[in-house]
Amino acid sequence: MSKIKKIKSVLKNIPELSFLTFSGVYFSLFIVASIMQGFADESSQELKTQSQLEACLHEEIGELGIKNKNIAIRFGEESDYSYAEKINGINNYLIVIHPTQNKRSVVKHELYHIADGLCDTDSAFLGRLRYLLSEPKACIYASTGMKL
Ligand SMILES: [Zn+2]
Repeated sequence: MSKIKKIKSVLKNIPELSFLTFSGVYFSLFIVASIMQGFADESSQELKTQSQLEACLHEEIGELGIKNKNIAIRFGEESDYSYAEKINGINNYLIVIHPTQNKRSVVKHELYHIADGLCDTDSAFLGRLRYLLSEPKACIYASTGMKL
């Protein structure tokens, strides 16, 4: 193949190569962030009672600076994982902590999703897309305190 043909073939594949590079970097970040969350969960404070959950929530709300939202928290096993969701009314949210994930780092993670606006997305499709961006950021915040 001549040099020009080679260059043309590389140029033709740039969109594909960019997509693959982007996906590779993104999924590597996703995996690294998940591992960081796992380490944080290991060493994080354990929350055993409803009042410990609420005390932790209020401290972390102050830490994150989102005092304009009404956020409730409780333990629950409706899902296999902990989650945050918007509930009735403007600015009302609920964090459900799965009993096997009763750690401060998990509260920080779910709170970050609320601060990040993930729970405010109405469309399921946009919600999924937004989740892809929000998830690694929530893991990084929960494990390092860094707000991205
Ligand atoms: Zn998450």
